[in-house]
Amino acid sequence: MTNDQLPPIKGFIETSFLDWPGHICAVIFLPYCNLRCPYCHNHQLVLKPDTLETLSLETILERLQPFNDWVDGICITGGEPTIHRGLPALLKTIHEAGFKTKLDTNGTQPETLHYLIAEKLVDCVAMDVKAPLDDPIYARCAGVYVPVSIIQKSIEVLMAGMVPYMFRCTVSPSLLDESDIYRMAEQLKGLGSGGSVSPPLSLTLQNFNPADPLDPALKDVKPFTEEAFSRMQEEVDRIMETYNRENSLLPQNYTDES
Ligand code: SF4
Repeated sequence: MTNDQLPPIKGFIETSFLDWPGHICAVIFLPYCNLRCPYCHNHQLVLKPDTLETLSLETILERLQPFNDWVDGICITGGEPTIHRGLPALLKTIHEAGFKTKLDTNGTQPETLHYLIAEKLVDCVAMDVKAPLDDPIYARCAGVYVPVSIIQKSIEVLMAGMVPYMFRCTVSPSLLDESDIYRMAEQLKGLGSGGSVSPPLSLTLQNFNPADPLDPALKDVKPFTEEAFSRMQEEVDRIMETYNRENSLLPQNYTDES
C-alpha cells in the first residue's frame, strides 16, 4: 500500500481526552467536507485545506508508537473523512500499527459507513446529526441540501449495533429551537431496533460557539444560555433513557470496552 492511496492528513493532535469518551486517543484531521454547516469551526480544513501542511502518516505512527500502551486509539475526524476513497486504507494501516480507530462522520455516506463497520475497520463511530429528519430544517443546519433519507440510513446502520456509536448535535438558537431538538431525540429513538447488543442510545448536545463560524452572519448569535442548554440535555437524556430502559440497554454512563 502506498501513501498515494491514503487521504492527505492536515492536522494531528497527539493526545485527547475529549474526542473518544472513556478513552485517551490521538486525533487525525482529514480535509474537505460535502456540507457547509453555518457554525463550522473547521472551515479552513473544509474550504482551504491547501493552506495547511500535509502530514505523513508514517511519522505520526512512529511518534505514537512509544505511547501504544496508554493511547487507546486514533480518532479520524475532519472535514468529512468518509468522502475520501482512501479512508479504508488509512484505517487498515492504523489497525496494523496496533491502534484502534474511532470515526467522526456527518452520516452522508451510509454505504461507506456500513462497509467500514462490516469490514471491522472502525471500533467506534460518532455521528453528527444536524437537525430533526426534515429536509428544509436539515438543509438550513447543514448549509446544503441533504436528503434526510440518507441521514436516516446512516442512523440505522449505526443503530444495528455492530459497533459502539454515539450521536452528537451542535445546537445554535438561530438554526434550531428546543422543540426541534426534542423532535430529533424522539426520531432517533423511533429508529432503534432495540437489539440487546446495541450500546445505549445517547445524543450529546454541543452548544454553539460564535467564535469564527463558517457563516460570518452567526458571529452575532448568542449561544443558548447555560440554563437552557442544561435543560435541553436533561430532557434529551430523559427521552433516551426511556428507550434504553424499554430495551434493557446499559445505563447512560456505559462506556464501550473496545
Ligand atoms: S461542521 Fe459541517 S461543514 Fe464543518 S466539518 Fe462538520 S459536517 Fe463539515
